Amino acid sequence: MTVSLLDLNRQYEGIESLVMDAFKDVFSSKQFIMGPKVNELEKALAEYTHTAEAIGVSSGTDALLVSLMALDIQPGDEVITTPFSFFSTAGCIARLGAVPVFVDIDPQTYTINPNLIEEKITKKTKAIIPVHLFGQLADMTAIMNLAKEYGLYVIEDAAQAIGAKAKVGSEIMSAGSIGDFGCFSFFPSKNLGCCGDGGLVTTQNEALAEKCRILRVHGSKPKYHHHVIGGNFRLDPLQAAILLVKLPYLDSQHEKRRANAAFYDTHLSHSYIKPYVIDGNEMIYNQYTLRSNKRDIVIDRLTNFGIGSAIYYPVPLHLQACFSHLGYKEGDCPEAERASQEVFSIPIYAELSLDERAYVVECLNSI
Ligand SMILES: *Cc1c(COP(=O)(O)O)cnc(C)c1O
Repeated sequence: MTVSLLDLNRQYEGIESLVMDAFKDVFSSKQFIMGPKVNELEKALAEYTHTAEAIGVSSGTDALLVSLMALDIQPGDEVITTPFSFFSTAGCIARLGAVPVFVDIDPQTYTINPNLIEEKITKKTKAIIPVHLFGQLADMTAIMNLAKEYGLYVIEDAAQAIGAKAKVGSEIMSAGSIGDFGCFSFFPSKNLGCCGDGGLVTTQNEALAEKCRILRVHGSKPKYHHHVIGGNFRLDPLQAAILLVKLPYLDSQHEKRRANAAFYDTHLSHSYIKPYVIDGNEMIYNQYTLRSNKRDIVIDRLTNFGIGSAIYYPVPLHLQACFSHLGYKEGDCPEAERASQEVFSIPIYAELSLDERAYVVECLNSI
C-alpha cells in the first residue's frame, strides 16, 4: 500500500463535473477579470468567516502584503511575528522595508508564545502577525489584550485555518475575525484550495476593506487616478467560481480530518508527541504534525513503507539566509529551532480511507 501526503485526485472525484461547469460558466461569460463570481465568493466567505468584509486577492502571500500596506506599514517599522511559519509571513514584512521581529513559539501548539511578546515591543512596533499554524488558532485572547494595551494592529495569518475557531475572552470566534485583518490562502494544499493561486483578506472594518479594494487594483480610484501605490492583487474569477463549488463541502471535510486526527490520537504509540489542541479550540487539521527526536530516521522508514510525509518547517525564519542582516543567531528562538528539528506531518486529508490510516498507524508504531 502507498499513502500519499495529499491526494487531489480524490478531492475532486465527486465534484469534477461541477468544477468544469463553473469553469465553463466563467469562460462563456468572458468576464476574466473580477466580476460576479468574485463578488459572490467574497459574500459567501465573509459569512463563513464571520466577518463584515472579505476581499478576494491573488494569493495568501498577497493577502498579507495588502493588509500590511493598508495599515501603512513603513520602512523601519517593526512587526512582531513567529519564526515557525511559511516564509511569506515574514517575507511580506521585509518586502515593505519593515523589520520582522521574531518571538519564539509555545512548544505545545507551535504558535507564537504571547508571554514573550511584551519584551519585544518598542516605539517602532506597529503590528503583530500571529499564525494559526496547522489549523489551530494562536492564543488570540492574550495577543488582543497586548495589542490593545500597546495600540498595535493585529493581522491574523489564517492561511492554514479557514473555519477554525477558539474561545477569545468569553466568546467563540473564527479565524480571521478577531484582529484588524485575517489573511487566507487557497493554495491547493490548504483545507479550501483552488486550482492555482488565490487568497482572501477579511476585516470587520469597512474603511480598511475599502483601502484593500483600492490597493488590489494598483491604488486606482477612480480608474487611472492613483492616490496610493497598490499592485495587481486581484483574485482570478475562474478560481472564485471553483471555490464557490467547493465551499459547501468544507465543513464536512474539516470533520473528516478531525476524525482521522482522533484515530491517530488514540492509536499512535507514545513514542510520538501528538498535536496539542487547546481545550475549546476547533482545529481544522490542515496538517497533523507529530514530533520525535529521531525524526529523520522515522521519515526515512515512512518513505520505505510508501507513506508520504513532510517537514513544516525545516528552517525557522529567524535563521533564514535572507534575514541574516537582522542579526539573529542559533539559540535566539530555541523552541522554534527544536521544533524544526523534530516535527513531521503525516497524511490527514479528508478522503483518506480507514485502511490507509490504519496502515499509517501500523507502520509508525512498528518503527
Ligand atoms: C500557505 C501559507 C501562506 C501563503 O499562501 P500562498 O497562497 O501560498 O501565497 C502564508 N502563510 C502561511 C502560514 C501559509 O501556510
